[in-house]
Amino acid sequence: MRYLILSDIHANRTALEAALEAAKGKWDKAVCLGDLVGYGPDPNEVTDRVREISSLTIRGNHDKAVTGLGDPEEFNPIARNAVLWTREQLRTENFEYLKELPRGPLQADSFSIIHGSVHDEDEYVFAPELALPGLQDAPSNVVFFGHTHIQGGFTLRGEEMAVLHFKPAFGSHFSRLTLEEGTTYLLNPGSIGQPRDGDPRAAFAIADIEDQWVEFWRVSYDIEDVQRRMTQAGLPEPLILRLSFGR
Ligand code: ZN
Repeated sequence: MRYLILSDIHANRTALEAALEAAKGKWDKAVCLGDLVGYGPDPNEVTDRVREISSLTIRGNHDKAVTGLGDPEEFNPIARNAVLWTREQLRTENFEYLKELPRGPLQADSFSIIHGSVHDEDEYVFAPELALPGLQDAPSNVVFFGHTHIQGGFTLRGEEMAVLHFKPAFGSHFSRLTLEEGTTYLLNPGSIGQPRDGDPRAAFAIADIEDQWVEFWRVSYDIEDVQRRMTQAGLPEPLILRLSFGR
């Protein structure tokens, strides 16, 4: 079974459609690791699309804040501004859908999905010392997480940890990781709608756990088109600018 792994789409339909176009015919089922909305200009279009294609979706901190389950006061003023804007835009059915999204970890066949960390859906797993407790208590050998918007991950084999970085060269669209027996993987597909690892292209993964591989993809999309819609919507300028840099 080939899975499309989507995370942190953040209401960016142009990036999502570019990713789906590139992944066409290459997956059987899709999952989403949360943060469907927040930051971007297309909360309804993105929520509609995820409802249509994803067989398993968990909530992210932005989905919680937008639907009143989390406290927008915990966000910085710029993110909070986007949260409040998103809340006004969402159709009732999409608001209810986001509000009802389950919390991770959830199991999808032979892997599991979380938004932040294994123990805390809102925790950012940036560094090996933060990844270790989750690797030790991993509910399955392969766990996909989001939240940091950084494509890559962490592995544990016996006592030995390693950090994974994937930088598909320009001209190439993906790097393939071969999964090894006896290793636990905490893998981040990266963010579709607001990458923060210095590569502005949309990020996602395709995985076949039985066949023991995960592909980490990067796909270009029309960033200026999204920026125009954000300007029209009156979304904060720093959010508009950062899309160009992937930071
Ligand atoms: Zn996010």
